[in-house]
Amino acid sequence: MADKEKKLRFLFLFFLISFYFVANYYFEKPQEEIQKVELRETSPVIQEEKKENLEVKDEVKSNNKNNVETDASDAGLKIYFVDVGQADCILISNNGKYVLIDAGNNDDGKKLVSYFKSLGVQNFQYVIGTHAHEDHIGGMDDIIYNFSISHFFMPDVVTTTKTFEDVLDALEAKNIAFETPNINDSFTMGDIYFTVLWVGHDKTDLNDTSIVVRATYKETSYLFMGDAPSQVEKGLLDKHIESDLLKVGHHGSQYSSSAQFLKKVDPKYAIIQVGRNNIYSHPKQVVLDKLNRMDVKVYRTDQDGTIIVSSDGKNMKFDTVQTDTNG
Ligand SMILES: [Zn+2]
Repeated sequence: MADKEKKLRFLFLFFLISFYFVANYYFEKPQEEIQKVELRETSPVIQEEKKENLEVKDEVKSNNKNNVETDASDAGLKIYFVDVGQADCILISNNGKYVLIDAGNNDDGKKLVSYFKSLGVQNFQYVIGTHAHEDHIGGMDDIIYNFSISHFFMPDVVTTTKTFEDVLDALEAKNIAFETPNINDSFTMGDIYFTVLWVGHDKTDLNDTSIVVRATYKETSYLFMGDAPSQVEKGLLDKHIESDLLKVGHHGSQYSSSAQFLKKVDPKYAIIQVGRNNIYSHPKQVVLDKLNRMDVKVYRTDQDGTIIVSSDGKNMKFDTVQTDTNG
């Protein structure tokens, strides 16, 4: 019996040990596998979460970038060289404030009013009619009737054209004073500083009377020539006319943009406001050649449509759009 009992105890012990190992094998191994599976499942999730975080960060970054750009355009400078065919019209905006230089031909007036209203313009701090030619003040009466204007500038040269009389009538109806600035006068709008470099009084050629204005916005500068010819340019050579951007005088005519003048201005960018297939063949090749030789980047309203320059005060960005204002 004792032997049998020993055998049974041994067998029991054997089974117990075997059971332990078998149980260990069947219960622990799967646990390891489960752990591995869990790890495998977890790690991609973690990776994805990290990826998502990165993406979120990227989104935040790009949002910031957008914000910076939006802030720059909201608080910064925007200049619209509006395509009005063979005519000038320049809208300058900063912080919801506006300056207008010229208003296109007679037929452009109503189109300009709706374009400016679509941009949110209600009031102009300054409106400048550079000189009394129709392609600069043609649409001005519509502007005067449809917006409030704090200051209206023109040369004090009286002409008898209907276009000019329409402007005077509109000013009278809206009780707005006709002001003529003096050379070296300056004024500000928001962070933009304007200096009047020229205003002429000789009415034999109205182009000579063009109000020439230089604007600076932080580190950037802009020169608006109206239709000033080379003899006016000559008188500006001893003034501070160096500018990043030049609104080329007189639609790119050969009577403006002398080599000496362009050299002194030394622009990086030039804007020519000019009509498609205009009868004057503006801009003249001789002017384009001079600008090309100086490596100036040229934008033209006849080819580019309305040209919008945005600046944060350091960099300048150019956008071109087609607007309903084109002549
Ligand atoms: Zn003109």
